[in-house]
Amino acid sequence: MIDPKTLQEAILTFANPDNCVAYMLERRWPNGVVCPTCGRTDAAWVAKRRVWQCKSRHAKRSFSAKVGTVMEDSPVGLDKWLLAMWMVANCKNGVSSWEMHRAIGVTQKTAWFLLHRIRLALGNIPASKIGTNEGGPVEVDETAVGPDPYKMHSDRRTKQRAAYGQKPKAIVMGMLDRDSRQVRAQMIPNVKRETLQNAILEQIEKGATVYTDGWTGYDQLAAQEYIHATVNHANEYVRGQIHTQGIENFWSLLKRTLRGTYVAVEPFHLDRYLGEQCFRFNNRATKENPLNDADRFAIAVTQIVGKRLTYAELTGKEANSTAEAF
Ligand SMILES: [Zn+2]
Repeated sequence: MIDPKTLQEAILTFANPDNCVAYMLERRWPNGVVCPTCGRTDAAWVAKRRVWQCKSRHAKRSFSAKVGTVMEDSPVGLDKWLLAMWMVANCKNGVSSWEMHRAIGVTQKTAWFLLHRIRLALGNIPASKIGTNEGGPVEVDETAVGPDPYKMHSDRRTKQRAAYGQKPKAIVMGMLDRDSRQVRAQMIPNVKRETLQNAILEQIEKGATVYTDGWTGYDQLAAQEYIHATVNHANEYVRGQIHTQGIENFWSLLKRTLRGTYVAVEPFHLDRYLGEQCFRFNNRATKENPLNDADRFAIAVTQIVGKRLTYAELTGKEANSTAEAF
């Protein structure tokens, strides 16, 4: 089994294209290759072109390990894709497209597109709810992200401004299940009660304990069958177990990444940066779960299957020529 343990080992291992395919194969199709078009499981391996050939007659009969993943249609080699994924999964404060460009030898523009495809793959919010195991507790908070994330606070005035639709900074809502140590974060259009409450109903199991600050948007949670406790930031930050310091810690990690690595994050792309940050937070090493770089990388590769992102989806416009293929 191909399983590089360090970045250096990964570079050496993935220099061999057959190792790249073998690594992908073990994660993507652990029970054998499946044709992405028709589902047949007896495709023949064409070693010379490093593709499989399906035995049924249909379009896209021959397919590579990239088909049906975020890497589909990308002319960038699997070796570079895998190293890029290693970097994103393991660089604590994120990787900029310029760093990626220098590290793996693609243009900065290509690196940018690669990064966004990887972020998309990492950022899926699971359908399952949090707060399920003995009710969390789950810390819920929102924060505003703007051009200078260090200046942003989720203080009352920011919230009021946002609630009345002024100054469109991006607002991010986060939830941290203190029991499972899993965090979820998403962009929200405003901090009105309806918005916040719907997000909570979608993601947190009813009956769970929810800790928030004293914002009025949260004041009906008890009526929604949650056990709700608040901490009033004006007078106190911690009242025993009732605090939101876990999610606030996540905010400071997020803002450090946005400020340090990603010079300008447009709100349009912010969701994917959030996904990347959540991935690293949720797969960080803990006493109970001592994940290492190789483990995190394997999880990242497993997540890329079945997700695609086109240039048009990424930029909101059509690629003007195939020369713009990444
Ligand atoms: Zn087929």
